Amino acid sequence: MGQQKLQGIRGMNDILPQNSGLWAALEKELRQWLVEYGYLEIRTPIVEDTALFVRSIGEVTDIVEKEMYSFEDRLNHDSLTLRPEGTASCVRSVIEHNLLYNGAQKLWYLGPMFRHERPQKGRYRQFHQCGVEALGFTGPDTDAELIIMTHRLWQRLGLTHVNLEINSIGSLETRHAYRAQLIDYFSQHHEVLDEDSKRRLHTNPLRILDSKNPDLLELIQEAPKLLDVLDEYSRNHFTRLRELLDSAGISYIINPRLVRGLDYYNATVFEWTTTLLGAQSTICGGGRYDRLVEQLGGKPTPACGFAMGIERLLVLIEEEGNLVSIPTEPQVYIIHQGTGTLEAAFKIAETLRDYQIRVLVYSGEGGFKNQMKRADQSQAHFALIIGENELSSGQFALKPLRGQGAQQLLSQSQLIDFFNEK
Ligand code: ATP
Ligand code: MG
Repeated sequence: MGQQKLQGIRGMNDILPQNSGLWAALEKELRQWLVEYGYLEIRTPIVEDTALFVRSIGEVTDIVEKEMYSFEDRLNHDSLTLRPEGTASCVRSVIEHNLLYNGAQKLWYLGPMFRHERPQKGRYRQFHQCGVEALGFTGPDTDAELIIMTHRLWQRLGLTHVNLEINSIGSLETRHAYRAQLIDYFSQHHEVLDEDSKRRLHTNPLRILDSKNPDLLELIQEAPKLLDVLDEYSRNHFTRLRELLDSAGISYIINPRLVRGLDYYNATVFEWTTTLLGAQSTICGGGRYDRLVEQLGGKPTPACGFAMGIERLLVLIEEEGNLVSIPTEPQVYIIHQGTGTLEAAFKIAETLRDYQIRVLVYSGEGGFKNQMKRADQSQAHFALIIGENELSSGQFALKPLRGQGAQQLLSQSQLIDFFNEK
């Protein structure tokens, strides 16, 4: 009796070899892009104290209410949570290690995040985000630069079906006053609200604006707008941001209903969306969070940032981008037959690898035909044939496996030159 097969967790994906080359290519592109804008990488643990996320993201948010993987550490009874996003951990780390002591910080991270959502295309329970945090900058130049840099990334990746939405959600105080207006408005239409919205009416009415329920669309569209009651600071900030985006030639739409799903934002919020991914249309979201550092116990520090979903970005890249997978197929597949030829094959392979050439040596006891078949299956560009004759003459047959070109006889140094010129 065989054992029952085990399966991965629903909504948590394996990234298989046929896809990992594209992931690696994107990661390489991202690192290059981030370094060009002066951002430094930070890596934080995947698990944090539950309180960190509750305090930063907010009690009455989708994430904290129903999406967190929280558990008790049985050994010491700590309440821990798999990180649902990266900003809270980043800020926690910056405070803990006093990084702001040396001035403002431009940081980025990339890694898995965990949210217990209903899995569907573009929505998973383990997914990856690349995020950027600029800490210690009052903006709005920084806000503009964050948007400009994401715009450049889309261009580099050959993405054209991306749209920018921006909004300002004002200061905490403005939102407080606006909140009362909203409660008033939605209370007058109480019978139209769905369960989620009714529950949020008195705890977090702004989140009703963010509802994805199509039945509420009209009601939400007619709601009073925060933009109309913005405090002076936020209004000026927003005006300047718009000027900077205009001068950079970046088009956007102002979406007064854009509030984002996390409580720590203030003033600028923005999202990049696409029409190519169906319902899961947001590929990148961010904004300003001037109070968060202080709220988590640090010195008051203005900040802003964004995070993009790697899985969604990759689907978009496959739809219309120009990113190519990093090459992984062997350039040379070495076939060997006869006394001493395996030893020679190993030596030649090592020498070729000194020049960063990708080489596979046939492994096994198969005959020539069988080895050629393997070479072909490996997707290698060339087969290099080492028999006893080749061994004694020092001339090896290099046979093209894909497309044209004739077989050539080359010495080891000619081989190296051949691949270096490619
Ligand atoms: P959505 O409105 O789609 O639920 P969100 O507002 O919850 O997104 P953020 O918390 O702003 O998303 O995260 C930033 C980005 O991370 C999103 O724009 C998206 O690209 C990606 N993302 C968020 N949740 C998931 C998920 N469950 N699976 C895959 N990607 C996700
Ligand atoms: Mg969400």
